[in-house]
Amino acid sequence: MTILASLTKQKKHLSFTALIDSMTSFFNNIKDERQPAKCDYSLHDVLMSAFSCMYFQDPSLAEFQKRLQEEQHINNLATLFGVKNIPKNTQLRDILDEIPPEKLAPIFKDFFNRLRRHKHLEDYAIFPNTLLCAIDGTQYHRSKDIHCEQCLHKEHKTAEITYSHAVLQGAIMHPDKKQVLPVMPEAIANTDGSDKQDCESKAAKRFIKNLRQDHPRQGFLIVGDGLMSHQPMIESFINEGAHFLFVAKPGDHKYRFESLDGFPELASYQFVDEKGRTHYYRWKNKVPLHGGENAIKVNFFEYILKNEDGKITYRNSWVTDINMSRHNIVEMARAGRCRWKIENECFNTLKNQGYYITHNYGHGKKHLSYNMYLLTLLAFYFHQIFELTDGAYQACRKKLGSKKYMWEVFRGSIRLLIFESWEQLMDFVLHREKYEEITLAKRA
Ligand SMILES: [Zn+2]
Repeated sequence: MTILASLTKQKKHLSFTALIDSMTSFFNNIKDERQPAKCDYSLHDVLMSAFSCMYFQDPSLAEFQKRLQEEQHINNLATLFGVKNIPKNTQLRDILDEIPPEKLAPIFKDFFNRLRRHKHLEDYAIFPNTLLCAIDGTQYHRSKDIHCEQCLHKEHKTAEITYSHAVLQGAIMHPDKKQVLPVMPEAIANTDGSDKQDCESKAAKRFIKNLRQDHPRQGFLIVGDGLMSHQPMIESFINEGAHFLFVAKPGDHKYRFESLDGFPELASYQFVDEKGRTHYYRWKNKVPLHGGENAIKVNFFEYILKNEDGKITYRNSWVTDINMSRHNIVEMARAGRCRWKIENECFNTLKNQGYYITHNYGHGKKHLSYNMYLLTLLAFYFHQIFELTDGAYQACRKKLGSKKYMWEVFRGSIRLLIFESWEQLMDFVLHREKYEEITLAKRA
């Protein structure tokens, strides 16, 4: 086994080493409730071994590196992630199953604060001191037989039961930015009820409370779908001091307005862009949300996009607490439209772009499934931060073309060689010739 000589060692606040160090201290702070005599593996080593599989998008990574340790007395989980003793798969699952998922929440908060302190969130502000946080429910486990204490269950007419796990996920995003930055999700619990709107609303209330508690001085514009645009939900967002922007389709029985045409004094604005498309906006402030007593007043707006032939290619409408005017209507419509990114850039990536979010790592009895989701989300967060801030990572992407191929190269490299740091692994991928000379010189 070749151990590469030290060439680079950097410690920036958002580098891999810095983020791993931060995560290490949070893992070490989790109180270990197990009997000391039964602890062959520390909680840190268990959590970090699982995380390393998610990070390298390789479910068998930890097992392979364990074999490397047995044969060569060294492995990359020790050098890159600080794992002292790699657990076997069965032990890893058993121990992870017992760790309360909320113990991982401070890591999301810490990464957010690092991004903020180093000014990376300024480009994400949709209005001064206001970040757009899109929220949506997503399912990451679904089965007719595999289930645990925490599973949601749905009984079908045929008496068949579907078991699932779902979260209300939030992510910071901006219409001009490709990277989305996840925040700690809120699990949809099997005590939240069986109605989709009902249980997502309950989870959303807990979500916003925690988000505001974690970041009390940060303004948020929460962007959500039509499930959110009902009065109790809107009131709880206002009570938590967050702005909201929720889809609201006129004609829906929930709302006062059958259609916007009922308002004679509607404000409007339109412009034609360089591609010949017409962007058309209409809005009205202080409209009662519904016809009932004590209806809350909201500001309503609509956006229609027509192609050069005058055909409607996009149409949507929203309610918000922000006072609508000619000055913010274009930006607000862009903010509302950008919600698709949570589906496309976040969930879709986690499910289909190498992260194995729906991979069956074993389901456990309590928290295994959710902890695996959270560790995968953290791996995704690492990669989003590097895409945004890390020159060497960006250079690897550029050199190797596709993300898929880049990860193949990273995985291939750590199967053959031992790297003393992630930064060195990236340097090796970027400047391979340099390392070949060193290895040859050592042999000679
Ligand atoms: Zn379950």
